[in-house]
Amino acid sequence: MSGKRIIKCPNCGVFNTNRDYCENCNTLISHQKKREIKEAKIKQTRIEAAVYELENPNLAERLKKHPFFLYRIIGWILYSSIMIVSAIGAGLAWFITMVAAG
Ligand SMILES: [Zn+2]
Repeated sequence: MSGKRIIKCPNCGVFNTNRDYCENCNTLISHQKKREIKEAKIKQTRIEAAVYELENPNLAERLKKHPFFLYRIIGWILYSSIMIVSAIGAGLAWFITMVAAG
């Protein structure tokens, strides 16, 4: 980074040089830092969602791993139906897009 970055604190009006936080009131004043924090938060949310999905698989996934084979079969049937339904849904979406496009 080069040169001085002078940012006026929106909270107290003090001018700060090369600071992320106001030297007077400690308010976050760096736009760069604000963006970084926001991006980190978004990333964290995505990681949490992925972890949640891993720790809480849906009913079909749980049944597929069930120790009792009959439940595993039900799991696979459920899994297949979900796959077929989403395939039909995707096909329908494609069809509607085609019709709308004329
Ligand atoms: Zn301030």
